[in-house]
Amino acid sequence: MKYVLAGASGFLGRALARDLVADGHQVLRLVRRAPSAPDELRWDPARGDLDPAALDDPDVLVNLAGANIGRPWTPTYRMTIRESRVRTTSTLAAAATQLDRPPVLITQSGIGGYGTDLGDRILTEDSDLGDGFLADVVRLWEGALEPARAAGCRVAALRTGVVLDRKAPAFQLLSLPFRIGLGGRLGPGTQYFPVVSLIDWVRAVRHVAENDAVNGPVNITLPTPATNNEFTEALATALHRPSFVPVPGPLMQLALGEFAWELLGSKRALPTRLQSTGFAFHHPQVATAISAALT
Ligand code: NDP
Repeated sequence: MKYVLAGASGFLGRALARDLVADGHQVLRLVRRAPSAPDELRWDPARGDLDPAALDDPDVLVNLAGANIGRPWTPTYRMTIRESRVRTTSTLAAAATQLDRPPVLITQSGIGGYGTDLGDRILTEDSDLGDGFLADVVRLWEGALEPARAAGCRVAALRTGVVLDRKAPAFQLLSLPFRIGLGGRLGPGTQYFPVVSLIDWVRAVRHVAENDAVNGPVNITLPTPATNNEFTEALATALHRPSFVPVPGPLMQLALGEFAWELLGSKRALPTRLQSTGFAFHHPQVATAISAALT
């Protein structure tokens, strides 16, 4: 199949592209700079600039572009977070509507769309989106798919938890304190902490791309949701390190601002759509997902 990837230079984009190419698929990478390889095509999502003809009859468009949400959310940076996701998706959607053969259009999205701190409530794709900055971003991000859906494309939004891999910047940051013997739960530890192994994330994206029965939002999180306490214990065990040093919530808020709620807020999400369409996780438990990430 022919895939067009936006955000292909990022951590997730590189992993997906590697897997697709290894299986013989064709990958065209959209870049914002001058192309430096035959499999790159320049676009300018800030201006909505992408030549549909240059995509040359793709089967699947995937948007994994988005400015890093781990930086302080100043008013200007909030705009960057939002626009880097919405404009990339709407540029791809506009191109999709111009193609003779409607492609599948998939965008990354986030589990933060359900809201900030939702306790024990089970979150499936049928749950309402919540309140807060990231929920508003998710509404616009996923809403940008609409023109393509209306034009007959199959569309999907990947509501992804934290993707675990030893090379993932987020996982490196989470595991660093453990490696130096200072690991511990984050905040209360009772909050549900949605994660998935990189291997299962890549498999899930391909399941969505290849399976006509999958439409709309798709949660990509462990089918057995774990709390931060369970994540902490599994990580400490896998690294053969103690986990005695809890990180107080207020300290995290001081250091990370509102982003801290992405780690402190509870989100008990279930991958209902993946499982109801036949997807089987290789790493369904937090311990197996962490072992896979460390391998
Ligand atoms: P990275 O930061 O590794 O990669 C981000 C990608 O987005 C890069 O290819 C970058 O391209 C592109 N990008 C950055 N800023 C802009 C911008 N202003 N306009 C257009 N493109 C831009 O992120 P990940 O690969 O980890 O994640 C990809 C997406 O998935 C992000 O939206 C992220 O929030 C989301 N996500 C990630 C999770 C994770 O655990 N990693 C979990 C849930 C969601 P360039 O090289 O041109 O700068």
